[in-house]
Amino acid sequence: MKNLAILGSTGSIGVNVLNVAFAHPEKYRVLALSAGRNTKLLKKQIEIFKPKAVALLNESLATDLEKTLVGKDLPKIFFGTEGFKRLATMDAVDTVVSAITGAAGLMPTYEGIRAGKEIALANKETMVMAGPLVLNEAKKQGVSILPIDSEHSAVLQSLQGHLKEEVKRIILTASGGPFRNMTRKEMAGVTAAQALKHPNWEMGPKITIDSATMMNKGLEIIEAKWLFDLSIDQIDVLIHPQSIVHSMVEYRDGSIISQMGIPDMMIPIAYALAYPRHIKTGLPSLDLVKAGPLSFERPDLERFKCLALALRAASVGGSMPTVLNGANEIAVDAFLNKKIGFLDIPELIEKTMDVHEVQPIDHIASVMNADGWAREKTMENLLTYA
Ligand code: NDP
Repeated sequence: MKNLAILGSTGSIGVNVLNVAFAHPEKYRVLALSAGRNTKLLKKQIEIFKPKAVALLNESLATDLEKTLVGKDLPKIFFGTEGFKRLATMDAVDTVVSAITGAAGLMPTYEGIRAGKEIALANKETMVMAGPLVLNEAKKQGVSILPIDSEHSAVLQSLQGHLKEEVKRIILTASGGPFRNMTRKEMAGVTAAQALKHPNWEMGPKITIDSATMMNKGLEIIEAKWLFDLSIDQIDVLIHPQSIVHSMVEYRDGSIISQMGIPDMMIPIAYALAYPRHIKTGLPSLDLVKAGPLSFERPDLERFKCLALALRAASVGGSMPTVLNGANEIAVDAFLNKKIGFLDIPELIEKTMDVHEVQPIDHIASVMNADGWAREKTMENLLTYA
């Protein structure tokens, strides 16, 4: 029996994690849940899973929730970053599911590692912002970080039973998003509503926009570099519009091992929770005949400039990936709020990266400083778009 703290339980990943836990009550007990603002869904989850503790974004949301809860065995209610950290470090918790979106996920995940908890990681921003620090701490505490991202789960699965030193490269697949075949001119006019319609995956708004710009793949390259201890030139990306092959590992003899399946996050979530076992998900089998031909193409770094920016940040290193991430979060938010156009997203990020003086990332405080600087600088540049 594993005791879970699910951070971001009201999100797309969080809800799927709860579906897996619900289907396997003999394997998983839900001890803690966190939401941002969605008190209504959190209340429902409390009624079903009866966690010992929950946390919300701020005190007023926590008070609102408290007023609506009646009955016995009510959970303790916390709020803010301190509240999320408390959930991640509860004595009885074995595994922290890190599924808050964006930089807000970093500190609770980091504290969970420091407290010796196993991490099921959806929040890729944690690895992008602070990969080396997070890994050092995980090594020190002897805890595993198991990826929920479908590509990284595919790589992990394709590495089983093989020797790390025989890996030549990995190939991360990308759907290419809704604008895969558009020219830059066409992309200039796309709306947030269009960008939010992902062809294959149901996800939260931030990652859906990241998929449309292909920043998501860029963040995944950086995540993979740290998780699997690879150099950037060992990581390739291929567009695979069908989202059936979730990623591949090539070995030095030329063998390529891939993991395939229907595009449903239950599969990588179940693997991260049950690693190294494959537990039942209740999903239908992949019908390869119905799936049709599987195709692969190279990404276009001119049209998808965010991917080029992420590669640049990865090769510069130090605080640059943190800055890339912070600037991207501000730019995506501005696009979703109709303050800028789709092609302004990479432009804004690039402006911030261009003036950043790279610092070493040697302490969690240096990560938070670089993140804060990137957000401030990008907000400043944003004013010129009004
Ligand atoms: P959602 O937007 O659906 O959910 C995000 C969750 O985080 C919600 O519970 C939300 O709370 C909470 N949250 C948002 N902002 C804050 C904040 N500032 N403080 C505390 N909690 C907050 O996102 P997803 O589930 O799609 O993604 C979550 C993470 O998983 C991201 O890092 C994403 O990159 C990663 N991921 C997602 C995949 C997917 O298929 N969805 C695939 C691979 C990775 P509330 O809604 O209550 O406000």
